[in-house]
Parts: sequence; structure tokens; C-alpha cells
Amino acid sequence: MELKQNSLEEVVSLAKRRGFIFPGSEIYGGLQGFYDFGPLGVEMKNNLKRLWWNWMTQKHDNIVGIDGAIITNPRVWEASGHIKSFVDPLVECKKCHHRFKADDINNDKCPDCDGPLTEPRMFNTLVPTQLGVIQDEKTEAYLRGEACQTIYLNYKNVVDSTHLKIPFGICQIGKAFRNEVTPGNFLFRQREFEQWDLQWFCHPSEMEKWFDYWKEERMNWYKSIFTHPENLGFYQHEKLAHYAKKAFDIEYTASPVGKEMEGIHWRGDWDLSRHSEYSGQDLNYTDPETKEKFVPNIVETSGGVDRTFLFLLLDAYTKEEDRIVLKLNPKIAPYKIAVFPLLKNKPELVSEAKKIYESLKNEVSVAWDDRGNIGKRYYSQDEIGTPYCVTVDFQTLEDQTVTIRDRDTMKQERIHTGEVFNYLKEK
Ligand code: ATP
Repeated sequence: MELKQNSLEEVVSLAKRRGFIFPGSEIYGGLQGFYDFGPLGVEMKNNLKRLWWNWMTQKHDNIVGIDGAIITNPRVWEASGHIKSFVDPLVECKKCHHRFKADDINNDKCPDCDGPLTEPRMFNTLVPTQLGVIQDEKTEAYLRGEACQTIYLNYKNVVDSTHLKIPFGICQIGKAFRNEVTPGNFLFRQREFEQWDLQWFCHPSEMEKWFDYWKEERMNWYKSIFTHPENLGFYQHEKLAHYAKKAFDIEYTASPVGKEMEGIHWRGDWDLSRHSEYSGQDLNYTDPETKEKFVPNIVETSGGVDRTFLFLLLDAYTKEEDRIVLKLNPKIAPYKIAVFPLLKNKPELVSEAKKIYESLKNEVSVAWDDRGNIGKRYYSQDEIGTPYCVTVDFQTLEDQTVTIRDRDTMKQERIHTGEVFNYLKEK
């Protein structure tokens, strides 16, 4: 199912209208490549991050998390190769002055206006910042260009402070910053974004096994949260980094913009060897049983929280005859349930509905709505992906039952008021 460009525009408009995503610094005319998450967006993003985090650290016994600093010693970026080579050779159109990654150009013409192009030049995508309060004595540092570096920096601290033995993983969710050449396509290519990374440390002889394992595990995780898992696929890279034996992206194949969501990377001993060389520290691992000493090899799974967020919205966005529905996975939807009194001006209905609302509030995120008629309230909840709506009506006052309505099937059932939470738990 290839989504059309207009569904991106419709999703962008819904995201703003209903408080998922706002353009950054909007009242000042915005700032390209920056976005803010609104009241519903932050709920959904937190749900998503919690799912990822629990899956990594609770489902897997041998994965722990860290939360590293955004600014590190600038030497880190020399060791990582960002300062020298994490630069993209770019070409510029001599006519319209648009810039493109040299890798993306198939011939010597500008893709936008057919104008002639310059020779490729190097641009650093790291975002510099200055530390210190005295103007002439400031130190130049960088906002991290990728979150994973703090994992490498803390690999030894983790080994020394936990009982973990190889193979094990360190995961992290955190912000990254890049002076992207062409920020755009909504959340797809921003200059400030969030990544979720796993760095899996293993014996070099086991790389093949763990690479294949994580490739499948990560794909299965994404499949478990998307509305249409058939829209996910692998892309195998042909051009490989010198230390990599293979590399795959997990893609949202129906995307009207770029498709890459997460990279599964074979990093070998590159990162720890480089940090060992630049820091002068011994980052070898000694097997406690065999006493073998080696630099652990790494399988990385590095994904974009914001890109996943965008793809989930695109995948869930559904237009039916008279309604727009976000068919989001209930675990990700900003609200799990909405509670309505049938009529706003009947105090006995309102107080009964409030009781249900209050009792659910401690357990799940729940919306309250008593505006307009029931049809409009359903419409409004469907549009933000609330999976269930409960209505308190006159029958409730007689037999303590409510109607519960399913977002996707629009079917309604009557259940006992005391059963609402269990009903949600089973879903
Ligand atoms: P691309 O080729 O699209 O520039 P990349 O291969 O440089 O991405 P990585 O460095 O592997 O990306 O980063 C891991 C993940 O971080 C990507 O798969 C993507 O989901 C996310 N990501 C990277 N750059 C951006 C960005 N500018 N805005 C939003 N998410 C991003």
C-alpha cells in the first residue's frame, strides 16, 4: 500500500490541529528542522519510548540502560571520525544554490532545476556549541551527532559496576543534533531528534549469530506496534563501512518520504578500538572463565523515535466514509479510553460517569468529554486514536451497565461498570 503525498499533508494538519506536533518557534516564523510535541504528542511519544525501554530492559535479562550527557569531551568526536569524516561531501547547484549529498546525485545536473553542479565539498554536520563564561576563553564543544557514543564511553563503567558478562547490551534513548543539509519532510529529517539505540557487546566469533538475531528481533518488535505490519521491510546496504560485514535498514516501505526507520549495523571492534586509541585507556574485556582478553565486537540497532512516530501516524491514518480514524495500537494511543455522560445537563448521569472516570484515572490515561452530541465525541476520539469510549446513559442508573464502543469496528457492547478496567486489560 503506497501512501500518497497528500496523506502526509493530512497527517501534518491533523497533528497540529489536535495537538500532536507543532512547528518549532512558530510565532517567530518557525525554524527549519525543529518541532515541538504537543499535549497528545508527548503522551504518545512517552508511551512509545516506554514500550521500547521495557522491551529492551525487562524482556532481555542482559540489557541495561544509561542516560548519557548530550555534550561530551570534544575528543570523542575526533575518535568517532565525525570531525574528520562524518561530513557529507556535498554539491551545490550554481543556478539555484540548492545543495545535495554527492551520493544522491546520479548525473551532473541539479535535480531541482537542471542547473550545473559544483565539485563535491565537505561540510561538517555536527552542531558546535561553546562552553565557558568568558568570551575569549570559551571551549568549543559539540551537541552529540548520535546518541550511541556515550554508550561506548561507559562500556567499561557498566562492566565494572554490574554483574554483566559478555554477551550483553547497553541501551539508551536520547537526543541527537545534526546540521542536516536538507532538513524537511516533517519529522523525517530534523536538526534535533531522538534516537533509540542498543549496542550489543559480544565475542568476535559470535557476530554473525547476534547480527541475525537482532535484525529479526527488532523487526518483530516494530511489527508488533504497527497497524499494517506488511508495510515494514528490510533494505540491504551494498556500500558498507570498512569495518562492517553487512548492514540492513528496517524501512517503512509505504512512506511517501524517506523510508529508513532503524539501522542494524555490524560495528565490529571499530568503536571501542578507536576510543581506546584516542583516550589511551585499555578497553579490552577479559573473559572471567577462559581469561581470554579481547576487544568486544558490537552489533548496533539504532532507530529514530521521531521517524517511528511519524510512520506510526501515517500507518494508522484512515479515512472512512464520514470519519477520520487513527487506528493506533492501543498501547501507543495518547488515551486508552474516553468516558462520556450521555447528556451534560443531567447531574445523575454526569456524577455516575465521573465515578468511572475517576476510578480509571489511576490505572490508564483517560479522556473526559461532555461537549456536543455522542456522534461528535466519537468523531473527535477516533481522530486522535482513542481505542474505546464508554457512555453512561439512563440504563446505567438502573442496572450499572455502560456501553463500550470499539474505535475500529464501531461495535458497541454493554458491560458492567466494574468490568471496564478488566475489559481494557484484556485488549
Ligand atoms: P539518513 O541516511 O536518513 O540520514 P542515517 O543513516 O544517517 O540516516 P543513523 O545515523 O543510522 O541515520 O541514525 C539512526 C536513526 O536515527 C535513523 O535510522 C533515523 O531513524 C534516525 N535519524 C537520523 N537522522 C535523522 C534526522 N535528521 N531526523 C530524524 N531522525 C533521524
